[in-house]
Amino acid sequence: MKKNNYLIYIVLLDVILYITACPRIISRTQWDGKPISIKMQLIQPAYYFIIHQSSSPICFNQTECSIQMRNIQNFHIHSNGLPDIAYNFCIGQDGNVYEGRGWDVQGGDMSSYNAYAINLCFIGTFDTTMPNFKSFLAAQELILCGISKGKVSSAYSLIAHRQISSSDTNCPGNALFSEVKRNLRFDYNPNQSNQFYF
Ligand SMILES: [Zn+2]
Repeated sequence: MKKNNYLIYIVLLDVILYITACPRIISRTQWDGKPISIKMQLIQPAYYFIIHQSSSPICFNQTECSIQMRNIQNFHIHSNGLPDIAYNFCIGQDGNVYEGRGWDVQGGDMSSYNAYAINLCFIGTFDTTMPNFKSFLAAQELILCGISKGKVSSAYSLIAHRQISSSDTNCPGNALFSEVKRNLRFDYNPNQSNQFYF
């Protein structure tokens, strides 16, 4: 196993990491996002993390990723008819987390799960290539950050968009989905009633 793959494997196996700080989160103001027009409160602590890909170009620095965030937001508003970017957070290949709807507002992609799920998107298209280690580490830090803030249950599960979509989507891409499935927190049979078990 290559060193880089090994590191990713360790992180995604949810081995306890001694990380107490939250990752660097680029605010909506910093990426020049439009304000949120509709705010539906999440039920907290959230139970699921729903993993997405943005299906947009990949980005490697804050300037590129901010452009992608604005493009995604515009697409969701103007093409999908949503009031805002659908995701709660996005992650770039620069290792930064980009604020979407944040911890407290329901996401817009999966209506039946939105009330108690954080929609987490990796910016890019990951059918054949995997997100890099920095972005996986940022995702793990974000999850631990959410738990430490009481926004997310420590009993959280990971699921992929394709598992709960009524449309025929392959989101979050085949390569990323295969990695998500290796995580010990992956839930093969997501069920909305799981929220009542913690
Ligand atoms: Zn998706």
